[in-house]
Amino acid sequence: MLIVVGIISFALVIFILKYVFSSGPNPFEKDTREPLKKMVHDRKQKNKVLKQGFLASRVPDNLDAIIIGSGIGGLGLGVLLAKVGKKVLVLEQHDRAGGCCHTFTEKGFEFDVGIHYIGDLLEHKPFRCMLDSMTNGQLQWEPLENPYDQVVLGPPENRRKYPIYSGRTRFPEELKKCFPGEEKAIDEYVRLAKKVGRGIWLLAMLKICPVPLAKFLVYTGLAQRLSFFFKMAPRSLTEVVNELTDNKDLRAVFSYIFGTYGNIPKDSSFAMHSLLVTHYLNGAWYPKGGASEIAYHMIPIIEKAGGAVLVRAPVNRILFNDSKEATGVSVMKGQEEMHIHAPMVISNAGIFNTYQKLLPKELQAMPAIQKQTSMMKNGEGGLSVFVGLNGTKEELGLKADNYWIFAENNFDELVEKYSNGKREESAHKVPLLFVASPSAKDPTWEERSPGKSTVSLVSFANYEWFEEWKDDKVSNRSPEYKELKQAFIDSILEVVFDVFPKITRDKVEFIDAGTPITNTHYIGAPKGEIYGADHGIARFSPELNATVRPQTPLKNLYLTGQDVFTCGFAGALAGALSCGSIILNRNLHLDAIAMAKKIRFMNPKLKGE
Ligand SMILES: Cc1cc2nc3c(=O)[nH]c(=O)nc-3n(C[C@H](O)[C@H](O)[C@H](O)COP(=O)(O)OP(=O)(O)OC[C@H]3O[C@@H](n4cnc5c(N)ncnc54)[C@H](O)[C@@H]3O)c2cc1C
Repeated sequence: MLIVVGIISFALVIFILKYVFSSGPNPFEKDTREPLKKMVHDRKQKNKVLKQGFLASRVPDNLDAIIIGSGIGGLGLGVLLAKVGKKVLVLEQHDRAGGCCHTFTEKGFEFDVGIHYIGDLLEHKPFRCMLDSMTNGQLQWEPLENPYDQVVLGPPENRRKYPIYSGRTRFPEELKKCFPGEEKAIDEYVRLAKKVGRGIWLLAMLKICPVPLAKFLVYTGLAQRLSFFFKMAPRSLTEVVNELTDNKDLRAVFSYIFGTYGNIPKDSSFAMHSLLVTHYLNGAWYPKGGASEIAYHMIPIIEKAGGAVLVRAPVNRILFNDSKEATGVSVMKGQEEMHIHAPMVISNAGIFNTYQKLLPKELQAMPAIQKQTSMMKNGEGGLSVFVGLNGTKEELGLKADNYWIFAENNFDELVEKYSNGKREESAHKVPLLFVASPSAKDPTWEERSPGKSTVSLVSFANYEWFEEWKDDKVSNRSPEYKELKQAFIDSILEVVFDVFPKITRDKVEFIDAGTPITNTHYIGAPKGEIYGADHGIARFSPELNATVRPQTPLKNLYLTGQDVFTCGFAGALAGALSCGSIILNRNLHLDAIAMAKKIRFMNPKLKGE
């Protein structure tokens, strides 16, 4: 026993010395927030930052790093490196930067792709301070309504609506008002979720601590003992909530937020679920000016350090020397390859793109690479419907909140039936739907698009339902594809018209849908995944988390973003922090917390007039 304690203590001391008191440069050392500048709404001006096309002449000399992909995992890491003076080139395959944070405009309506609400952004919290620092204080956040989510259960003739409030005490109190007699179950659910949430530190540590220490924590079983997160990780959400209550609507309300990571309750880990529950406990926010503001305020920081963010730059392979060390990337410029070299390559393109498409065949076959890909699997495909409406939010009854609408309260059966069904049948009965109005959440919208509104509708869809059309030109897919897409749109719209009576067909000015193969095209998701790699129970085993880390088995090649931590804006950014910790040889998670402590009370002088 004493020997074990001795080994642990020794390893911890090494870890603390190396990562807590390390001397690597700290991107959060200085308070870099600047006085708030006037917001830019002019699209042309914003595009000068967001849409800088790839040209050889725009590639900076003497790069320190190349990042493949400009999602928050890529840009966030780019900013961290730029803040310590590194010259970084970010390469994005799409025609604009941002990944899931990009926006697009159709018929005058601006739509977000993958940002509807983000939690944990109270001003004094580390996550908020970190984001303020990473955007030099220019990105502003608008709180959603409270209740921020509305859960709607049941068929049209018997829909039950449950409001979800933020607030550590208000969240359970309001639930108790909806479910009298269930106080004990609600308190226990919240207690468990909070306790699990607090255990996340070990997941971060497994990603960045020295491999022998990570292995030691995993194979001795210490990971489960030290962190309630890993203790609860093997338990499914269904299992946990069924033990808490027999009330089927309450079970559903405990579970509804599975839609934010994509696994049905019986396949999802209570650990992942708890992260989402606690993420929104203090409220939910939306980026003022829309999601494109995120990349818009990060890119100049990368540029200031001599780097660049270039779009229409699909990386087709990573270059290696004979010693299997990454030395750069090859970018397709038309039919020609262009090679760019740097001492390190970091991929934000996801684990499957990176290992199965961008590595040479002989490196793909390496046992260490095979081990990682065999531990992960592709996540659920996503389906988004974008609706442009004639009318203000008041006229259309839209608020800064989200609706989660389910045809029944038995989510496991409901979604399995849908996913296992024939595509033509499933298209006519989409059983779960997320509804949000980005325009109602953005206080700058009315000024930018007076008299108009947008609604985004999100659900899941199998990649295989659409796969046969994946090689068609994206703007000109076959009539059969369009017909299938239309069937989904029609059935989804029926639900919207029913739940939002002020939205009527004559108000719809624009409507289109993005299917899993649309995701493949625009965000590079290989199987149309909505949240990257699968977030089922297996994803949260300590072994997987000690294996799939920012540091790859190949020297000078690293991973960042959602596949290396968890999905979600915050999860992908945690992937960037973990990756930055490895590269800069210090614990950036702790640095962010330390910075937040230092600037706990924001300096009012830094706020704009
Ligand atoms: C519909 C939808 C709604 C969502 N809603 C929310 C929400 O409300 N709140 C929240 O927190 N999260 C939400 N998410 C999840 C969140 O947006 C993502 O988890 C997160 O942004 C992923 O960031 P990332 O950097 O890891 O990956 P991505 O944003 O996917 O970025 C990866 C980038 O790599 C690029 N790329 C891929 N291959 C190559 C290549 N070969 N060469 C060059 N570039 C390449 C891609 O084009 C892409 O831009 C949502 C996601 C979706 C799809």
